[in-house]
Amino acid sequence: MGTRPLLNRRLAGMGSTIFAEMSALAVATGSINLGQGFPDTDGPREIAEAAANAVLTGRGNQYPPGPGIPELRAAVTEHQQHWYGLSYDPDTEVLITAGATEAIAAALLALLEPGDEVIAMEPFYDSYAACIAMAGATRVPLTLRAPGFRPDLDELRALITPRTRLLLINTPHNPTGTVLTPEELRGIAELACEHDLLVITDEVYEHLVFAGAHHPLAALPGMRERTVSISSAGKTFSFTGWKVGWVTGAPELVAAVRTAKQYLTFVSAGPFQYAVADALRLPDSYFDTLRADHLRKRDLLAEGLAAAGFEVFRPEGTYFITTDITPLGETDGLEFCRKLPERCGVVAIPNVVFYDNTEAGRSQVRWAFCKRDDVLAEAVTRLRRL
Ligand code: PMP
Ligand code: GLN
Repeated sequence: MGTRPLLNRRLAGMGSTIFAEMSALAVATGSINLGQGFPDTDGPREIAEAAANAVLTGRGNQYPPGPGIPELRAAVTEHQQHWYGLSYDPDTEVLITAGATEAIAAALLALLEPGDEVIAMEPFYDSYAACIAMAGATRVPLTLRAPGFRPDLDELRALITPRTRLLLINTPHNPTGTVLTPEELRGIAELACEHDLLVITDEVYEHLVFAGAHHPLAALPGMRERTVSISSAGKTFSFTGWKVGWVTGAPELVAAVRTAKQYLTFVSAGPFQYAVADALRLPDSYFDTLRADHLRKRDLLAEGLAAAGFEVFRPEGTYFITTDITPLGETDGLEFCRKLPERCGVVAIPNVVFYDNTEAGRSQVRWAFCKRDDVLAEAVTRLRRL
């Protein structure tokens, strides 16, 4: 096979995700896993039963329709209307995907040509970098800096070149917890319109906002026709293993994303699609309780991390807290996270892996708080040994 590397050069250096590495370390060391973002308590029982019933009654056991089952596409449009006043046509403006991850991949593969530039807020969720690379495009980071992690719109303007094809936005933002304000969204929208850019917006944490409110970018003037909005059932309904996601947008954009998507998985998660349709129609009280529970967990963990000596950046949204380890006399987040299980039986994620501009994130460490209160309390007790 000669000397040519097996892995193509676009994926070189992207060996295995930090989530896989750290979850394996948690299992191997029996540590509390506050690394990979998944809840330790499943979502509503009635939704799990809906999935089981769908399997047992033969709904979705064979290939569902390419764009997703009509019941779920209708439920997505009702959700967008109910929460944000956005109306979409379930037949032409909604696409069901294998989680938000496939939606991101399909959107980037569909909309990019080799040589295009994509401006993405960094630190960025790791699949963004990999999918931009697979599309042959180049990522251009807009760095969110501690302590505020706000996007600098002048910096964004300066990053736009004639090669810029799209902006990749994520609000609420993983891992910093930044929730973009209406003013920031307006600034981003104005730049997108002025330079005629496409926008992909990843809003999977839309129902986990603790300060202010979630505002979909697609609702801003001029954005509907240029924005691919992405969300998923994983975070909102605490079923991350089901991998049901969706895209909403103008018909031409959704058609483009569907073209790529049909050759990735074609379809997925048939019976789960029925259950997620029910989940999206849960009463508002479900969503209120989800938020209230996570707000309590955020505060529990934030206080514990501060007491253990970390600098804590309290997130406005998501179920992650970013901290800085400098006050503990540490500087290297990656090394810190690799040793943490052995030092005190807890696993966390080093934010540096989400940066191109690694200096900006070297000493940051992320903790997931989508865990039972007693698990968070035990983690905090262990971390005080530091
Ligand atoms: N985007 C962000 C910002 C995420 O944190 C995640 C999380 N896991 C995803 C996308 C992927 O979502 P899914 O599990 O639905 O593929
Ligand atoms: N989104 C989750 C996180 O940020 C995990 C996703 C994954 O494991 N790929 O932790």
